[in-house]
Amino acid sequence: MAKDVTPHTGRKQVARSEPYQAQIPARTGIGGVLAPVAGFGVTLSAMFRPTVTEQYPFERVPPKPRYHGRHQLNRHPDGLEKCIGCELCAWACPADAIYVEAADNTPDEQYAPGERYGRVYQINYLRCIFCGLCIEACPTRALTMTNEFELAGPTREGLIYEKQDLLAPLADGMLAAPHPMVPGTTDTSYYRGDVLGAVAEQVDWVREHRPDEPSLDTVTIVEPARGGAR
Ligand code: SF4
Ligand code: SF4
Repeated sequence: MAKDVTPHTGRKQVARSEPYQAQIPARTGIGGVLAPVAGFGVTLSAMFRPTVTEQYPFERVPPKPRYHGRHQLNRHPDGLEKCIGCELCAWACPADAIYVEAADNTPDEQYAPGERYGRVYQINYLRCIFCGLCIEACPTRALTMTNEFELAGPTREGLIYEKQDLLAPLADGMLAAPHPMVPGTTDTSYYRGDVLGAVAEQVDWVREHRPDEPSLDTVTIVEPARGGAR
């Protein structure tokens, strides 16, 4: 093989005819003297700026209002659950982190307006990447995300949140489900926001079927017209 041919490739070697020249000209004068320590300029300038280190967990800095934290399953103003078990959130999830099983509402066990409710609802926080696609997919605004970010846990099982972990607590004046819908309303009335609270018929039903229900002591009864009955 000829001497000017590269072994393995067989390509002819091209002799560099000109010496190497740096593209950035070397500094001269005071710039050349300070060049070796120029990199410390960033460090030195940062030393005189205010400290931004957050002393977490001793001081908790609230996240931004739209921060994507733990999920929450919301309720209607009368206490019924917004989740209808449609599974759209699970289908939208790119990480396959959501598992939903729906069940039929019955006259004795009505948890959500309409035909069905989410009987089983799990989010696996070992998989979730907090992208928010699931809350965009939810047609009833049942699923939203809170600002809670402290989701570490000692076990893998503990990071699979069940429905009771995700369901929003009863707000002031709500009546715990199950109970019937506001008389004269449909599920559409609920989605439109026409139902503003629990009415007397719902309270009477719970008093008859679950007399020990704690929310009976705190429920705020609204007038049927305000409750959405037509
Ligand atoms: S935030 Fe994203 S990854 Fe997490 S459950 Fe929702 S869709 Fe799945
Ligand atoms: S959270 Fe929303 S999208 Fe998911 S099952 Fe319930 S209603 Fe459907």
